[in-house]
Amino acid sequence: MLKNTLILTAALAASALAQTPQPNHDLGYDNTPTYPGMKWRVHDSTRPHPEVVTPGMCNAPSLKPPSDAEVLFDGKDTSKWSQLPWKLENGYMEVIPHKGGAITKEAFGDIQLHLEWASPAKIEGASQNRGNSGVMLMGKYEVQVLDSYQNPTYADGQAAAIYGQYTPLVNASCKPGEWQFYDIIFEAPKFEGSKLVKPAFVTVIHNGVIVENHEQILGTTPHAQVGNYNTPHGDLPLELQNHNTSVRYRNIWVRRLKPRI
Ligand code: MG
Repeated sequence: MLKNTLILTAALAASALAQTPQPNHDLGYDNTPTYPGMKWRVHDSTRPHPEVVTPGMCNAPSLKPPSDAEVLFDGKDTSKWSQLPWKLENGYMEVIPHKGGAITKEAFGDIQLHLEWASPAKIEGASQNRGNSGVMLMGKYEVQVLDSYQNPTYADGQAAAIYGQYTPLVNASCKPGEWQFYDIIFEAPKFEGSKLVKPAFVTVIHNGVIVENHEQILGTTPHAQVGNYNTPHGDLPLELQNHNTSVRYRNIWVRRLKPRI
């Protein structure tokens, strides 16, 4: 009798649990801070997701870099990287989980950056655990890399989001395993002494579709926190994030942006 009562009690409790909305931090938060002037909390679970657009360029072959590009990775040469603890094969580099990110030797300021990436073809995990990496501009400002093909997650953490700040204008993701590309135009923040005199701006084209249109970056892009410009800096290396999933990269090049003559 006691056993039956316990089973019944457990069943009722489970039923009550099922009916009460439970916080699911994989799909967003309701207790994170908000950037000044921003309607949504960082990783807000109620933030709307952008429309899905099927791009026309999934798995497109790599294009040759322009003649004045600094090629950071051509599929073989790793000499442009001060840290690259990843697997190299078949013309791509692949994240080895828990081994650290890839960091360039050179420091960069204002740049045009092209890179191609592919999330694992075999879907493992969900939300932020599915094909997560990131283009860490100056090692500080993240354009999210994520398998965002039919993968619900918080809107400011999906592919091509400025992590924790802006969703992409549309979701132009290819399927897992397919090669995708980012073309990024980045204007570095400018400081005078400890004072920020110009924030960073970024434009992102994802698979031929504009997804960030000269957005003002609001500071560093930490998880579940408001970022800032509290640490003045000059040019800094580019980093590709290791978020413990086996994302691949290939054909990475930059052009340093100079003022018109
Ligand atoms: Mg990331």
